[in-house]
Amino acid sequence: MSGNRHDGLRLQTLAVRAAVERSQYGENSEALYLTSGYVQPSAEASARRFAGAEEGYTYGRSGNPTVTSFEQRLSALEGSEATMATSSGMSAIMLMCFALLKAGDHVVLSQSMFGSTLKLIGSEFARFGVESTTVPQTDLAAWKAAIRPNTRLLFAETPTNPLTEVCDIAALADLAHNAGAWLAVDNCFATPALQRPIDLGADIVMHSGTKYLDGQGRVMAGALCAPEKMVIEKFLPVQKNSGMVLSPFNAWVVLKGMETLDIRMKAQSALTLELAQWLEQHPAVARVYYPGLTSHPQHALAMRQMSLGGAVLSFEVKANGPEQARARAFHVLDSMQLLSLCTNLGDTKTLLTHPASTSHGKLSEAQRQAAGIGQGLIRVAVGLEHPQDVQDDIARGLNTLA
Ligand SMILES: *Cc1c(COP(=O)(O)O)cnc(C)c1O
Repeated sequence: MSGNRHDGLRLQTLAVRAAVERSQYGENSEALYLTSGYVQPSAEASARRFAGAEEGYTYGRSGNPTVTSFEQRLSALEGSEATMATSSGMSAIMLMCFALLKAGDHVVLSQSMFGSTLKLIGSEFARFGVESTTVPQTDLAAWKAAIRPNTRLLFAETPTNPLTEVCDIAALADLAHNAGAWLAVDNCFATPALQRPIDLGADIVMHSGTKYLDGQGRVMAGALCAPEKMVIEKFLPVQKNSGMVLSPFNAWVVLKGMETLDIRMKAQSALTLELAQWLEQHPAVARVYYPGLTSHPQHALAMRQMSLGGAVLSFEVKANGPEQARARAFHVLDSMQLLSLCTNLGDTKTLLTHPASTSHGKLSEAQRQAAGIGQGLIRVAVGLEHPQDVQDDIARGLNTLA
């Protein structure tokens, strides 16, 4: 892809301008190309395209102009040379591991990563001989100690779900590179509007476009932002032969979503900080987890690495023991009349979840406690409603606990 057209332009501009060239019709909003095949100009040209000697679309599994627009726009936002779009965030991780790892290779990742990420690498890839070690998210010495001669990949996510733990991307990049490994960062929670891992030394940025890139809770999408050589030589062959492609319609939806990414992330971060501060002084709340709060253990690092705290916070209701904690958390959730009880995030609507019975429901009570996911924990992915309406709806249940 050619990034040169956009040299010097700023993120907000790139978010609405970076895309493939307009068609002959001069459409101002990027076109949605719903086609699975492409008519070839000649047999010779077709042969050159299939041999990789000429650019041009051949078949939907190996490329689509609307998908290319999505890829170019995300590359521009993340500051990466290239991007490979995928059908979901998990398929991006699947593609990355498929393309970069083989039996006998080793991955180091945080124990606080997204649950499906831990299962995919720790269980599914383990069946094919890929080894992995999980480490405490914020313990740099543990990351370093876990590295072995066969370590090929360090995989980090920051801030994490649901406790918003932050790790030091620049320090992890140094660790990885000194070991001859790559650093990949799951940038779902912060997005390039708040945090640009490649500027901090990461080699690969992974996205679930399902979340803030779309930002309106409509479609599934994923992506890997990486050096052009890695995308062309490692990711593209796997993508072509495995078919984890992003549908052009979903690409178009997320492409449009990215146009408002920056203003959404700023507005939602401000609303989240306000909610976090209100929750922190609420008598029924034991603890609030949010990187934008000065009480957050990695607040200084978070504010160095991110421009704002993001739109996800978690809080713990006060209780005596896990049973009461669960009952109280359920009471808060069931008392809501406006906000959504919904295991997603990155929407304009505020969504609340109970991690201990959903995303972390399959863990034993001991494992959950080790992970810090108590029965009284509630995650809030803050949307764009008026802050007073959000507070009032959460207060409905909370105020009757105090
Ligand atoms: C949702 C999510 C994923 C997985 O993305 P899907 O699009 O649901 O496959 C990975 N990492 C994080 C942090 C997420 O929030």
